[in-house]
Amino acid sequence: MRKPMIAGNWKMNMMIGDLEGYMRAFLSGIEKVSAVDQVDICFSTPFLQLAEAQKILTKTPILVAAQNVHFENAGAFTGEISLPMLTEVGVKTVIVGHSERRQYFSETDETVALKTAAAIKNGFLPIVCVGETQEERESDKTKEVIENQVKTVFNSVQDITKTVIAYEPVWAIGTGLTASNEQAQEVHGFIRALIAEKYGRQAAEAVRILYGGSAKPANIGQLLDQPDIDGGLVGGASLKPESFLEMVQIAAKKVAQA
Ligand code: PEP
Repeated sequence: MRKPMIAGNWKMNMMIGDLEGYMRAFLSGIEKVSAVDQVDICFSTPFLQLAEAQKILTKTPILVAAQNVHFENAGAFTGEISLPMLTEVGVKTVIVGHSERRQYFSETDETVALKTAAAIKNGFLPIVCVGETQEERESDKTKEVIENQVKTVFNSVQDITKTVIAYEPVWAIGTGLTASNEQAQEVHGFIRALIAEKYGRQAAEAVRILYGGSAKPANIGQLLDQPDIDGGLVGGASLKPESFLEMVQIAAKKVAQA
């Protein structure tokens, strides 16, 4: 079993003032979870909250991630944040290619690939998001879309084990609709096969592939039971410390039982 990762994506939610109370509740709960060190936990906060989150979590193994980054290290890119800027506040994990970035901010497979390569070069762990829209699924294009998305990233990455991939069907994000265990497993298995084809079986076995799309305490256990699902990228259910904690707890229990 690969080490599961439960990563919260707060999107454009939560104020700096909310951090202390949230983390106090979360950290006091986490202390009681056995095998919690066998799960990677990550919080992806808005940019302005990163430094404070990092400060609060500094003595813990919990990762703090940015939700986006520019691929250049500096320059005339008004409104953007660079990898060295994130490094300066202690952040070394970043989500790239989230479907909301693709949908609303014109992120393309090419910019996602550039960001992924730049993140690795700067010593970051990129969580690379891929996923099909409802229309693409209905027109039977899921695999074609996923293949294009991951292969564009592959073209710019030498060592894929330095990434985490997140499969997030766009139609399941924030909608309450979750891909069935079978639907999710089918795409996760497909992505792992594509990794094996390009990088070999050993690398494919090592890469973690997270599921995202209305994941919550009620469904994360069954998703984690799928052979190619190694955790969750969690939006809505990460906004409450209790529900996010419960998901971490479920993942830790799976490891303990494995
Ligand atoms: C996400 O933000 O990546 C996500 C999957 O959101 P939600 O869990 O709310 O669907």
